[in-house]
Amino acid sequence: MKKHFYIYFILGLIALDSCEPSSNTRSGRLKVVTTTGMIYDAVINIAGDSVDVQALMGPGVDPHLYKATQGDLKKLQDANLIFYNGLHLEGKMGEVFEKLSRVKPVSAVTENIPDSLFRASELYPGTFDPHIWFDVSLWKKAVKNVHQRLVKADELNKKYYDKNAAKYLLQLDSLHSSVKKAIFQIPETQRMLITAHDAFGYFGEAYGIEVKGLQGISTLSEPGLKDVADLVNLIVKNKIKAVFIETSVSKKAINAVVEGCKLEGHSVLIGGSLYSDAMGPFGQFEGTYIGMVHTNVETIVKALK
Ligand code: ZN
Repeated sequence: MKKHFYIYFILGLIALDSCEPSSNTRSGRLKVVTTTGMIYDAVINIAGDSVDVQALMGPGVDPHLYKATQGDLKKLQDANLIFYNGLHLEGKMGEVFEKLSRVKPVSAVTENIPDSLFRASELYPGTFDPHIWFDVSLWKKAVKNVHQRLVKADELNKKYYDKNAAKYLLQLDSLHSSVKKAIFQIPETQRMLITAHDAFGYFGEAYGIEVKGLQGISTLSEPGLKDVADLVNLIVKNKIKAVFIETSVSKKAINAVVEGCKLEGHSVLIGGSLYSDAMGPFGQFEGTYIGMVHTNVETIVKALK
């Protein structure tokens, strides 16, 4: 299965190679800055090296808590185009984006998506769950927004962007159906994804697996003793085999759940580490959006099957 994905990935790179961007902008390349790696990856897949793109948040970074550094502010000031997730994912950066949006295009990739497609936040009434990248079909809409904004900022390369975006969206279609098939391999009674925070709500709804998080939708709130006890009961009652930790969230809370289960006479394994709000290292398969989703699914299926 991994091989399958590598092939898509390599095909994507070849696709970028075979269609050259306009030379007019090569000298004065558009400077694009993104918050998360997932958005960065969308820009790379659509624009290749015809733009100069940087992500502010690297591997293991928690976007809910992230504050712009002096270096970030310089990058944002120099940028021609800025992308962020929106729906309050970058909770501490709202003011920065608002100020910048007065002088340059600052775009949330979740813009123009109907509210009806978003999950309501359980923690903050009246707001939406920002983790839309875990429903690949929904993330496609964000990728389309990135595409449109790039074209608007750099009309000369429209053809090149159109072609790359179409190819990338096809790869995401394949990813969406592969994930569906993979989760279906888990026995129905084990289709429960327990992890540190509620990043996987969209994933659960899209692919048919129940999701329980210890923390709310944001990582700002600490789980209480009652949350731990409730989760322990649920795991013991359903004889769930494994729980998962996340690369951008402290594993203290999930360790408390494992210990709690042990006291109840049920041994639950840590099924592995999932990429939730940040991708793996740049330059590696897990450091791409497709690679991140694929690696997570492989980890989940292996532990629960
Ligand atoms: Zn999150």
